[in-house]
Amino acid sequence: VLFRSMGGGLGGLGNFGRSQARRVDPEQIRVTFADVAGIDEAKEELSEIVDFLKTPERYQALGGRMPHGVLLYGAPGTGKTLLARAVAGEAHAAFFSIAASEFIEAIVGVGAARVRDLFAKAKEAAPSIIFIDELDAIGRSRQGSAGITGANDEREQTLDQILTEMDGFDSREAVVVLGATNRSEILDPALLRPGRFDRRVAVQAPDRTGRLKILQVHTRSMPLGDSVDLDGIAASTPGMVGADLANLCNEAALLAAKRNHRTVQMADFTDSLEKIMLGAPRGILLSQEDRERTAYHESGHALVGMLTPGADPVRKVSIIPRGQALGVTLSTPDADRVSYSREDLEAKINVALGGRVAEEVVYGQITTGAESDLQQLTQIARQMVGRWGMSDKLGPLALLPTEGAGGYLLPGAAETSQQTQWLIDEEVRRIVDDAHAEVTRLLTDHRDQLESLTRSLLAAETLDAADAYAAAQMNLDGCTGSTGSTSANHP
Ligand code: ADP
Ligand code: MG
Ligand code: ZN
Repeated sequence: VLFRSMGGGLGGLGNFGRSQARRVDPEQIRVTFADVAGIDEAKEELSEIVDFLKTPERYQALGGRMPHGVLLYGAPGTGKTLLARAVAGEAHAAFFSIAASEFIEAIVGVGAARVRDLFAKAKEAAPSIIFIDELDAIGRSRQGSAGITGANDEREQTLDQILTEMDGFDSREAVVVLGATNRSEILDPALLRPGRFDRRVAVQAPDRTGRLKILQVHTRSMPLGDSVDLDGIAASTPGMVGADLANLCNEAALLAAKRNHRTVQMADFTDSLEKIMLGAPRGILLSQEDRERTAYHESGHALVGMLTPGADPVRKVSIIPRGQALGVTLSTPDADRVSYSREDLEAKINVALGGRVAEEVVYGQITTGAESDLQQLTQIARQMVGRWGMSDKLGPLALLPTEGAGGYLLPGAAETSQQTQWLIDEEVRRIVDDAHAEVTRLLTDHRDQLESLTRSLLAAETLDAADAYAAAQMNLDGCTGSTGSTSANHP
């Protein structure tokens, strides 16, 4: 750390302290609630804020204290930033936005000065909205932040300044601070106290109806061909959020232009979807040997998926290299899933093991190709034991730190003893060992089906659901054959 600020004065540091926030005047915001779809509960909750910003007098006359801080939390791409802009657009309020990561500078004190400046400007422009995006970048919990570094100091001072400013709000001021975060669980509890971000709005991933509405919003200004079935696209995209769907619509329009279509066709959508989900083909040539190994590997995933009750239906199998993967097996649920049983998760582990076990069964040796499969299944097994209480030995206890939160424990979880750690490892190993034995038995017993699926795959390179089930001599009952999302397996 080179500089320390002297009191509030920034001396010769120029205008570092000036807020870098972008101010957008009310007239310029064209985003309204009509642009936000599929997250009706969140919109509902925010409409009160809009109302307050529009007619603060009404609330003040009744003596109500409007919340000054509203925290939007939810997965990336669900529309938090969009929603914040829409609130400003609806309320005709000035909109000041800044990403919390921009506050963080090497020079201690600058962040705090920016915050002061930002709040001063916003109060002047009231009614107004201060939008602090990526709030977790400064607002992460101070508990356990080991080792004081300059960056930490700066973060703390910035955070303290935000808290001070929020505490200093006069209830008559029509200024609302909207914060957004993908990770509300790691926020400093001080931020969530009454008078600060005490209103919290969950922004959920959309369900099927929600996805349809989002698709409608993003195709509003596109000429669509008669073949386009937005409902069908919504049905086959569980897990996708607003940003994914917006991207899909855009890709489809680009593809239609490239193909010289006069309207956007269904095929433009389905081909774009395939590219988004599976990745763009990489255009490398595999040796005959690698190609065959990849075909067995992917057939192993696919066949285990077809033979295991509770596994998601197989949608597509391909040995065209894409991204990091030499091949892909895509299996997705028929509908949105909100919870999984132990059997469902075991089925997922089995399917993830299918690729490697197929190589073992056929070649008697293993390669490095199953790395991401192993990561995936290890993670499922660990969470079954330490997060979802699915191990009889350890019982229903939360034992794992939250992922990605820098070692913060799940609410309710305490530091585990070494003995418990050891038991977790044992249980994870047992789950995976059992699955390995079962999958080995399965693929050995169904070797002929593995062979015929592999031959078809080598010939066709990509099989959709119907062809894959036929090639494996399986019934495709109740499968729609539509493409789905998530869980691409790498060889
Ligand atoms: P977040 O801030 O939650 O990560 P964004 O608001 O930045 O997500 O979303 C990125 C883009 O995705 C938006 O600009 C919009 O085009 C689209 N989008 C996301 N969610 C929605 C939604 N609920 N309705 C319509 N479009 C959405
Ligand atoms: Mg955002
Ligand atoms: Zn694999």
